[in-house]
Amino acid sequence: MDEKKNELFYQPKNGYDVIDTAERLALEEYCRGYMAWLDDSRTEREAVSEAVKLAEQAGFVPVESLTGPLQPGQKVYHSNRGKSLLLAVGGKKPMTAGCVVTAAHIDSPRLDLKQNPLFEDTELGYFRTHYYGGVKKYQWTAIPLQLRGTVALTDGSTVEVVIGRDPGDPQFVVTDLLPHLAADQMQKTLAKGVEGEKLCLLIGSVPYAGEGNDRVKLALMSILHDRYGITEEDFISAELEAVPAFEVRELGLDRSLIGAYGQDDRVCAYAELAAIMELEEPERTAVCILADKEEIGSVGVSGMRSQAFERFLERLMGDGAALQQCLSNSFCVSADVTVAFDPMYPEVSEKQNAARLNYGVGLCKFTGSRGKSGASDASAELVAYMRRICAEAGVLWQMCELGKVDQGGGGTVAGFMADRDIDTIDAGVPVLSMHAPFEVTAKLDCYMTYKCMKAAYQAR
Ligand code: MN
Ligand code: MN
Repeated sequence: MDEKKNELFYQPKNGYDVIDTAERLALEEYCRGYMAWLDDSRTEREAVSEAVKLAEQAGFVPVESLTGPLQPGQKVYHSNRGKSLLLAVGGKKPMTAGCVVTAAHIDSPRLDLKQNPLFEDTELGYFRTHYYGGVKKYQWTAIPLQLRGTVALTDGSTVEVVIGRDPGDPQFVVTDLLPHLAADQMQKTLAKGVEGEKLCLLIGSVPYAGEGNDRVKLALMSILHDRYGITEEDFISAELEAVPAFEVRELGLDRSLIGAYGQDDRVCAYAELAAIMELEEPERTAVCILADKEEIGSVGVSGMRSQAFERFLERLMGDGAALQQCLSNSFCVSADVTVAFDPMYPEVSEKQNAARLNYGVGLCKFTGSRGKSGASDASAELVAYMRRICAEAGVLWQMCELGKVDQGGGGTVAGFMADRDIDTIDAGVPVLSMHAPFEVTAKLDCYMTYKCMKAAYQAR
């Protein structure tokens, strides 16, 4: 009977019961690289610049230097306004035969400073924020925050701001009520307990010497002016992000997990990047996308709905004539994180179809919510194709859905790739505490996602 079960049943296995010592060492090494990259990539702009550094070391050159169509083995990249990144390695086949595309995103939930953020109340200085992406607001109080981003000046120059990264740097916090006086707050729902307008960063307390109003604000503004040469009006053309200051750390006695801010979706972005950097001459041209703005609907010039993707492909092809043929023959892995089954919250998942930590990269035929609404829904044929690719490359994978029926759901860039007539499937790393300031992944799944990306790029 056991033999018959083995033959006929789908029985996912814990990855640690499958991999050998060599693979275990390989996954540890891979995760060290991922953790180092992630620690320096806390904004979409930083993720791009850190990725460009790695890509240039691996021989990628700006796409602008192409003088004709992309040649087999040639490696190029294009930074789209410093916020999203496109990379490609030329394949043996012409691009009209289609590309293999992987698309992850590098924006993560955070607290953006408002355009007029600075104020003083009761001799304490603050920055007002407007949160970005889906956050549980109460999670963003009483944790150390860094401030990172860019101030654009009217003379065309920019000022990079990073405060709170280096040891000894000051950091910031959004305060919360003490439990002793929180009786009213505790009666509210989690959604209402902390209001968006109360998510203000505490940034200082010492007044400027002299008499009058706004002395703390003046003292803080003069610190910023001394350090960055900016005035209050310059905030209007700034993108400053308050991001969690937590170090990227191994978690657990056995160090099998990774705790960090921004793993959705930089964990898949790094998997794609690591995979494409190792390609020499794939069958089909490989394209790696690190997109911006996924968390707010993939909108904007740096989001996945932007035609910047088509313009990049046209550059690779030398002309736009055969672009549609290329798109129609392409295949895309929408590489985004998925929900890991959480034994503390089993009620939101249906166990038989939930992703589990250490079971490998999670393939999702569909995402969406309430009757698959908003899902791209990969075809059965495409899912079969992925099963074959993974099996041939020794990728441990699991089929999963994003929460039980009618519990909620989510979306990815998959639909926007499919809009372009590209066959697209979702695949990515299962995550615990997704969108929290400190998210959890399993090393084995991070590594298997990288292997999956590489296998996809190299598929025939
Ligand atoms: Mn995501
Ligand atoms: Mn997300």
